Amino acid sequence: MDTQNVVIIGSGCAGHTAALYTARANLSPLILEGHQPGGQLSLTTLVENFPGFPEGIQGPELIENMRKQATRFGANYRLGHITKTDLSKRPFEVSVGNETIHTRTLIIASGASARWLGLPNEQALIGHGVSSCATCDGFFFSGKDIAVIGGGDSAMEEATFLTRFASKVTLIHRRDQFRASKIMLDRARSNPKVAFLTDTVVDDVLDVKQNEVTALRLRNLKSGKRWDYPSSAMFLGIGHVPNTKVFEGQLDMDADGYLITQKNVLTKIPGVFACGDVQDRRYRQAITAAGSGCMAALEVERFLEEQGH
Ligand code: NAP
Repeated sequence: MDTQNVVIIGSGCAGHTAALYTARANLSPLILEGHQPGGQLSLTTLVENFPGFPEGIQGPELIENMRKQATRFGANYRLGHITKTDLSKRPFEVSVGNETIHTRTLIIASGASARWLGLPNEQALIGHGVSSCATCDGFFFSGKDIAVIGGGDSAMEEATFLTRFASKVTLIHRRDQFRASKIMLDRARSNPKVAFLTDTVVDDVLDVKQNEVTALRLRNLKSGKRWDYPSSAMFLGIGHVPNTKVFEGQLDMDADGYLITQKNVLTKIPGVFACGDVQDRRYRQAITAAGSGCMAALEVERFLEEQGH
C-alpha cells in the first residue's frame, strides 16, 4: 500500500468529522474503524442535543449519516484492530494485524471504552446479565428487576431507558451526590419504575454457577451493612477508559491515560493529532468531539501543505 496522506484511528463522531473534512480536501483519508465502529453514539438511543435535529435523532442513525457523508467525498473505511504504532519517524507506521500502514499524518480519534468494576465474577457474567450497553442488551430483561450502577448522565440515561423493558430498575451509586446533570437526574427520579440506592457499592455479582445474574452482593458505605440484592442484570454506567494503549511511551498522557494536547488537537509529535474523547475528559459530547475532529482535519491540511504535499 502507498504511503497515506492521513490515517484516522477511530470512527466515532470525531473520526467521521475528521474523515469528512480531509476527504473534502482531496486527501483520501483511510479510517481504521477499531473494535467499536461508530463509537459511543452507536450504543446510545435518542440524541437530543446535537444541533440540527429539532426532534432529536437516534445515535446509530446520526453516526451512519456521518459515515455516508464522508464516504461520498472519498473517505475509505476499513475494519481492523491496531496492534502497534511507531511514531518515532515519518512516515508514521500503524500496524493492523500483520500489515503495516505508512502515513504522513495521523489523527487519533480512538475514543474511550466502558469501564468495568473489576468484581471477581464480573467478566464471567458479561453477556449473561452483566452489560455496559443498555441499548444492546436491555431488551433481554423485559419484565425483570435489574440494576444500573453509577451516578453520572450515562447511568441516569441507562436507568430511564431500561424502564421500557424492566419492571423495576434500581440505580446504585457509591455516594449520595450525583455527577449527572439536573435534567437527567430529575428524569430518572420522576420515573416511578426507578428506585435509588445511594452510598452503596457492589462487592460482587452472583451467580456464576447458574451462568446468569441472580443477585448483587451490596455493601452500604455508611452503615457497613452487607446484603444480597436480587437482580436479573447489572448494567454499568460508570464512565470510560481512553483507548490509548498503543501510544504508551510515545505520546503524553495524564494519569488516567487521556492524551494531552496543546491548542486543542496538537500532540507533541508534529503530524500527529488527537481529537474527541481520547483527549477530552471535560466536555465529552458528540458535538465537541465533532468540533475537535474538524480541527484535527484542518491541522492535517496545514501540516501537509507546510511539508510540500
Ligand atoms: P461520569 O460523568 O464520569 O460518571 C461516572 C459515574 O460512575 C460517577 O457517578 C462515578 O461516581 C461512578 N463511578 C466511577 N467509577 C466507579 C466505580 N469504580 N465504582 C462505582 N462507581 C463508579 O461518566 P458518564 O456518566 O459516562 O458521563 C460522561 C460524559 O458524557 C459526561 O460529560 C456526561 O455529561 C456525558 N453524557 C451525556 C449524556 C446526555 O447528555 N444525553 C448521556 C451520557 C453521558 P462518583 O460520582 O462517585 O465519582
